[in-house]
Amino acid sequence: MIVDAHSHRFSPDAIVNIGIGDTFVGETCSMGVHPWNTTDNAAAMRDLETLSQRCGDERVVAIGEAGLDRLRGGDMEFQFTVFLAQVELSEKIGKPLIIHAVRTLNEILKVRQTSGATMPWIIHGFRGGKAKAEKVLSTGIHLSIGEKFSLDTIAAIPDDELIIETDESTLTIGEIATKVAEARNTTANAVMTLSAKNIARIFRLVNR
Ligand SMILES: [Zn+2]
Repeated sequence: MIVDAHSHRFSPDAIVNIGIGDTFVGETCSMGVHPWNTTDNAAAMRDLETLSQRCGDERVVAIGEAGLDRLRGGDMEFQFTVFLAQVELSEKIGKPLIIHAVRTLNEILKVRQTSGATMPWIIHGFRGGKAKAEKVLSTGIHLSIGEKFSLDTIAAIPDDELIIETDESTLTIGEIATKVAEARNTTANAVMTLSAKNIARIFRLVNR
């Protein structure tokens, strides 16, 4: 069972984020052109090409991280180009999109609306407050919660939307589940069970 929606370290119970040219590890991976890797336009375009060739592999369960970062990466216009290309790819191959969004939440929501995208989108490492979380969830976009989160957000996420991740944390997914459980007044086991169930549904992981 996959409990951890996004990790940069290999674990059999995580969707493991690997580099576009990396060897596959395990059975459940994601790969995408990260907004930080958009400073060299030609290299990013080559990555997009490689991604489109490899993302059909059944071990790739999601495209990402893809997204927009106002503080780091290439210029915003090019970041948009690379992000939109991956939105299109996600729709074309029918795989969800794991999104990295830094100070660009409104732009991401706008792209969701204007692109007419229908695949699941998951904003990973969400640290925003309750109002932002509710706004995102109301558009049908999902949130994944890592080591750092806002307490009022955690309490406001419905059971069928709770997803957790390790990302680059040094904590284990069990330790993150414990932190989230404290904030929701429940048990780590209950949090892990919900996360696994929601990940299976949202990422369409059948028989994993
Ligand atoms: Zn990450």
